[in-house]
Amino acid sequence: MMSDVKGDTLKSADIVPVQCPQCSEAQNTIDGILTDTFDTANIGCMVCGYQFDPVEYRRLLAERQLDFASLQLGDM
Ligand SMILES: [Zn+2]
Repeated sequence: MMSDVKGDTLKSADIVPVQCPQCSEAQNTIDGILTDTFDTANIGCMVCGYQFDPVEYRRLLAERQLDFASLQLGDM
């Protein structure tokens, strides 16, 4: 699990990279202003250039955050 946090504009605690449905890489690019709904940002895949739909991205992100939460609980 990569956890190198760079000091960019994202709140790293809230945002985890989601897996691309096209190439399965979890390396996102985010262009624009990030809001709770992601409607104002273009979120894409760094690897293959896939563009996430905001609704799709929210769903994938929620799943990833659940995964992370269960991983952290499992370590304790
Ligand atoms: Zn991709």
